[in-house]
Amino acid sequence: MIIKSVELETVCGITSKLPENTKPEFAFAGKSNVGKSSLINALMNRKSFARTSSQPGKTQTINFYNINDALYYVDLPGYGYAKVSLEVKAKWGKMIENYLHKSSMLRCVFLLIDIRHEPSENDKTMYDWIVHNGYQPIIIATKLDKLKRSQVQKALKVLRTGLGIGSDVTVIPFSAETKQGREEIWDLISESVNS
Ligand code: GDP
Repeated sequence: MIIKSVELETVCGITSKLPENTKPEFAFAGKSNVGKSSLINALMNRKSFARTSSQPGKTQTINFYNINDALYYVDLPGYGYAKVSLEVKAKWGKMIENYLHKSSMLRCVFLLIDIRHEPSENDKTMYDWIVHNGYQPIIIATKLDKLKRSQVQKALKVLRTGLGIGSDVTVIPFSAETKQGREEIWDLISESVNS
């Protein structure tokens, strides 16, 4: 995909009305620190356009990035940051659920999981929410470069078993360092926009 323009068009807080976009939306969900901003930056061909979490869990917004005036990347709030109160956690949950439920332009949800770790309860809950709202999440296994090549297959197996998913669910290993996996994600997005 050739990135011609990128604009942070809408930032939604807890009480904001969601935008009524007319272009396809692609959402990114994942635990804070999983590498979501790094992935979104890589998919925008930008170094640090999307926020990176020097203070994980601080941002409680849904950010809509207009890409090429043709589609949106939707950056959902990172969940599972330990130092946040239960009340705040519940609010994030509501925001994410509300978006999944209400967006009429949402084409695909990417759920990010760190390739080195077994999926957490929060990851499983997120997976179930996405499915419950009628979407089959595409899993992105982040930080691929942190594993030795010989460890990758086993890690992917642990990830699949942890989420309880079969071979029908797409899992894309990705590294923001080497950009491995980026073309595959772009292809999925382009196919969906053009279909
Ligand atoms: P977010 O909280 O999910 O948005 O995570 P960030 O994108 O801010 O990344 C969290 C930390 O992980 C940062 O220190 C990143 O530099 C690092 N990181 C993210 N993706 C990768 C990756 O693919 N490889 C490596 N080695 N580090 C990564």
